[in-house]
Amino acid sequence: MTAVVGDAAVGGAEWQLCAHCRSLVYRKRLQRNRSVCPECGRHERLTARERVRQLFDAGSATPLDFQVDPGDPLGFVDTRPYPERIRSAQRKTGLAEAVLCVRGTIGGSPVVAAVMDFDFMGGSLGTAVGELVTRAAEHALDRRIPLLLVTASGGARMQEGALALMQMAKTSQALAELDEAGILTVSLITDPTFGGVAASYATLCDVIVIEPGARLGFAGPRVIEQTIGRVLPTGLQTAEFLLDHGMVDMVCPRAALPATLARILSFGVRDRAERPSGARTARLVHDGGELVAGSPWETVQQARDPHRPTTLDYIHAMLEDFEELHGDRLASDCTSVVGGLARLDDVPLVVLGNQKGHTATELAACNFGMATPAGYRKAARLMRLAAKLRLPLLTLVDTPGAYPGPEAEEQGQAVAIADNLRIMTRLPVPVVAVVTGEGGSGGALAIAVANRVLAFSNAVYSVISPEGCAAILWKDAAQAPRAAEALRLETRHLLALGIIDGVIPEPEGGAQADPALAAERLGHAVKSTLEELSGLDARQLIAERRLRFRSFGTLPPV
Ligand SMILES: [Zn+2]
Repeated sequence: MTAVVGDAAVGGAEWQLCAHCRSLVYRKRLQRNRSVCPECGRHERLTARERVRQLFDAGSATPLDFQVDPGDPLGFVDTRPYPERIRSAQRKTGLAEAVLCVRGTIGGSPVVAAVMDFDFMGGSLGTAVGELVTRAAEHALDRRIPLLLVTASGGARMQEGALALMQMAKTSQALAELDEAGILTVSLITDPTFGGVAASYATLCDVIVIEPGARLGFAGPRVIEQTIGRVLPTGLQTAEFLLDHGMVDMVCPRAALPATLARILSFGVRDRAERPSGARTARLVHDGGELVAGSPWETVQQARDPHRPTTLDYIHAMLEDFEELHGDRLASDCTSVVGGLARLDDVPLVVLGNQKGHTATELAACNFGMATPAGYRKAARLMRLAAKLRLPLLTLVDTPGAYPGPEAEEQGQAVAIADNLRIMTRLPVPVVAVVTGEGGSGGALAIAVANRVLAFSNAVYSVISPEGCAAILWKDAAQAPRAAEALRLETRHLLALGIIDGVIPEPEGGAQADPALAAERLGHAVKSTLEELSGLDARQLIAERRLRFRSFGTLPPV
């Protein structure tokens, strides 16, 4: 058995040997399982046609017959003339080129797709492939329909020389036009996606989904090993590695792809009727005098109570269709900032916030809610997505502050925070921030430059922690309660200073005593605030937000 490769030696076409776990699998069973090995979960490669069949609603996919002909621009001959290689690839796949373009629906959402086929010359990116991907993007642009790119490629097609290289720029340009037009782009990365395709359209999409075990990278492993003269660590460039390193949004098993893509694509279909409506008037407190004045230090303890609902608790309790997106697309995925696409009743929005935990393990896993630069860059990415798709942005603030470690300094914590402050002043969409617990310094403000800033009644918002303030000014951290009082970090003071616009009353005993009720009140508050902002256009939203922050220190407190 050890020497057996392929089908022939193991009893004809009925059985197939899994290249990973070496199990013999009955071919029909494998097909029923979407070509995923039932023994080890290895995702076998699919042809473009199989992929379309698996993803699209039955009978909905219509081929887009763009006529392209790669020709033979260089008169290229290696061991065989290039046109001969093309012809045999065409015979093998039944496709004119390495991409199949279709239009149809996934879970009822319309989508234009360009699906690559690795069997056609290794999915190499030549002029015809670049042209087909570009035409699919243009088709999506003309009809204002989301674009899905399914990639599988070894890289640029050498037989077409520098003309193949130029396809990276051409396709990237097509995606930039979709960005400018606010049209959702999604890529599904399948194994393998390397070189020119990885470094252009595969990774430029708004949402990047990857199949388990699929590899994506710029340089192929062999090239890297030859260049650096070292053996690569296992797992490099695999889906799971890429998720950890912030390059992709999610690893999605094949069986779950149609439903997952349907959810994501639904955010790209804009219904003119969607507006915050029927909002019950939320009870927001605008007069600090109505708020109970307890001890400031006790309020700080309340705000930090680990039993308070976290950002993810609120998201799951008050929003629907939450699709969490991951990564900063640079180097990592910070666990102390979470966010994604969701709906508040029927209103689609982008939500993001600081994530803490309830138990010691959870708190450690999310770094106690202290974001790294990658966290702020993930937030920035989500803010840009909100701007592009013209979706309101909701941010939930609950952090002791930005992470103050050496790695954070190496990765530009100050720059990441500053960048977010600037990005938020430019967002052409309604922005609502809610301080749900601790609003700690620049790390909090970096996601809170909003049109309206709300806070729960026991929340605090401060330039520095009371402990930090006491250590610096009193040279004694034990003076924290005194500092808490002096800093006026409670909501009644914040209201008077205009730092916050409204207070959401917490249930008796605090948000932690009745998380469901707290979430309900938060939902009402956000909905009515969005309703209030819905009459403003992009220019007005930006102008209003800038005026809000421009006024601090120049006008008498309200
Ligand atoms: Zn297997």
